[in-house]
Amino acid sequence: MPTVREIEAYLYELAPKALAMDWDNVGQLLGDPEQEVKRVLVALDITEAVADEALEGGCELIVAHHPVMNCRWHPVQSVRRDTPQGRLFMKLLCGGAACICMHTNLDAATGGVNDCLAQALGLRETELLPDSDGVCRMGTLPEVMSLRDFARMASKALGGHTVRYADAGKRVYRVAVGGGACGEYADAAIKAGCDTFLTADIKYHAFLDAAAAGLNLLDAGHFPTEDPVCETLVTRLREAFPDLRVWKSARHRDVIRYELAER
Ligand SMILES: [Zn+2]
Repeated sequence: MPTVREIEAYLYELAPKALAMDWDNVGQLLGDPEQEVKRVLVALDITEAVADEALEGGCELIVAHHPVMNCRWHPVQSVRRDTPQGRLFMKLLCGGAACICMHTNLDAATGGVNDCLAQALGLRETELLPDSDGVCRMGTLPEVMSLRDFARMASKALGGHTVRYADAGKRVYRVAVGGGACGEYADAAIKAGCDTFLTADIKYHAFLDAAAAGLNLLDAGHFPTEDPVCETLVTRLREAFPDLRVWKSARHRDVIRYELAER
């Protein structure tokens, strides 16, 4: 059976480390590199529920997108049972589950987070969005559609979550996408001639600015826009290591809930 180190090396073939942002923290972050692996759980985040699922399922390895430590969030100064993060680390280490996190390198990689998002939305002729640090993609829809229809289609394609958007008064055809928090690349989408940009974690003023600049801007949620890559990771790992048992977390869901007033 492959070791954690060998699986990390394979994942770096899919998503080379050189593609990661300099502030990021990717690769094997917890556990024993020489541990032999029979079972792998894939999830967007390593939450306590994901850790429990992995350990109950006998997994020696969790492969996740967001770093479990020392990224822009989750600084680690101590590992103590009286903090949520410390409890998580102790659970993983004592239970013998290693963690590999492929983050901004997987955002930028061919076939990674943003190619999977573009594919889920049915974009064609997908290419890199210039001036997006190699992260975002742009492509065209099979046919022009109204923004409302596009928002509904996107919501359905990404798991039925709520989509928030600002309407710049344009019909949708040339679409840029950036999974997770890619709002900073709205100007790049405008510059590239896109009528529409779908990303996540958008603030009020960014909606206003985009609409004023002639760009339809959609916030389809952080989890829904990145989750499509998990199935791809499962497929790739199964192909590369046929003896491994690999599956996507059944318990990890978007932590954000929406409630609509009855009309
Ligand atoms: Zn993310």
